[in-house]
Amino acid sequence: MRRPFIAGNWKMNNLAADTASLINAVRPSVADVTGVDIAVCPPFTSLAAAAHALAGSNIMLGAQNCHWEPSGAYTGEVSPQMLIDAGCKVVTVGHSERRQYFAETNETVSKRLAAALGAGLHVIVCCGELLSEREAGNKEQVVESHIRGGLGDLSPEQMSSVTIAYEPVWAIGTGVTATPEQAQEMHKFIRGLVGEMFGSGVADNTRIQYGGSVKPDNVDELMACPDVDGALVGGASLKAESFARIVKFQAK
Ligand code: PEP
Repeated sequence: MRRPFIAGNWKMNNLAADTASLINAVRPSVADVTGVDIAVCPPFTSLAAAAHALAGSNIMLGAQNCHWEPSGAYTGEVSPQMLIDAGCKVVTVGHSERRQYFAETNETVSKRLAAALGAGLHVIVCCGELLSEREAGNKEQVVESHIRGGLGDLSPEQMSSVTIAYEPVWAIGTGVTATPEQAQEMHKFIRGLVGEMFGSGVADNTRIQYGGSVKPDNVDELMACPDVDGALVGGASLKAESFARIVKFQAK
């Protein structure tokens, strides 16, 4: 049985004090949730404030990216060890905004992933196709290249510290959500791929989050899909009430 995992991607939003306020609002609303893993991923500059505000809670601290070297001459970068030092348990890699605006490739995703796992972080690896790729009939091919290119060097054992987030780019921040049928179709495809790469036991245990305009009013039907094990939430995670409602989904 896969334990659901809901993560908030706060992107480049909120100063440290706002981050602490948001956490102080979310924290009591989800304090009674026991069967779900919960994480929030604020910007680097808010990690210290977030770690302080999250202390003793059932919410894990996450970051939005990391470099593959532990230290060195990489101006502007942050290493997995630095994230752990700041209190992180989780990091996302390969988000489509990083692929789109910051030249992220499958190769760099794979390096970030390996380094983050090596340092002891749980990693959410993002994949997903553009609308043009879907319309051209290439959605599986694109997602397969993200999965094989990003995760191909891992061992089956390492997969226990990996969550895959399927995030169709056309659904991110657009208010257009994949239908449960579209999400389930791709999640099933991804699970099959993970099975081919790492074996059926790993595939059965790997959590696959859906991301792309998840809101309180669509989370229940998405979470009811047999291969949807959680959500990576952008916009709706910036409001305590909506994020708490998403964490308290009622799969029907
Ligand atoms: C995201 O950025 O990972 C995301 C899914 O954003 P949104 O929920 O705003 O579409």
